Amino acid sequence: MIGPKCKKCRAVGEKLFLKGERCLSAKCGAVRRPYRPGVHGQSKKRHNKTEYGKQLLEKQKLKWSYGLREEQFERYFKKALSKKGVTIDHLLQMLEQRLDNVVFRLGFTPSRGVARALVRHGHFLINERRVTIPSFSVKKGDVISIRESSKTKGELKDIPARIKNHELSGWLSLDREAIRATITGLPKPEEINLPFNLNAIVEFYSR
Ligand code: SF4
Repeated sequence: MIGPKCKKCRAVGEKLFLKGERCLSAKCGAVRRPYRPGVHGQSKKRHNKTEYGKQLLEKQKLKWSYGLREEQFERYFKKALSKKGVTIDHLLQMLEQRLDNVVFRLGFTPSRGVARALVRHGHFLINERRVTIPSFSVKKGDVISIRESSKTKGELKDIPARIKNHELSGWLSLDREAIRATITGLPKPEEINLPFNLNAIVEFYSR
């Protein structure tokens, strides 16, 4: 069965990789049904979008990739806008610094969605203190580890195998034996490398 996450990919006509390993398999909803969701999905055209439609699409892709609701995403954008410098760079940096994203980037989980659930269940420690807020913003020097009692549970017991050959972002370091990560800096825009038209998102909110 194709779930709501896959419908998002089908709605934007692109794989957003929201379901981990399944996204790389033949079971991927966007591969099995490469048309829009809904009863008229097969007859709806993706072309001839207005400028607004194109901007909206890019915004949806970024928002859904990080698993955010509209209000949350807007809050991040407003905060980015209030900072000096390039708005989109600030936006990406804030999104990347979310704890659920960091757990995913470290290779601990197959998707941000799984990372979010595991953070909420209190399996991760920041500087030895339990943090259950997926939006928690990590900063340089923070150390992320897994609660000792959680290491043998469900998805978490697969972490050693998962991180073995996982390629890390430049702003993260990981002791793969101890499963302890350190935030060594702030993510640079060029390291984030998302295949979206990010300027269109700024234009969307500047209307
Ligand atoms: Fe579903 Fe992942 Fe494929 Fe998107 S990329 S349609 S989330 S399986």
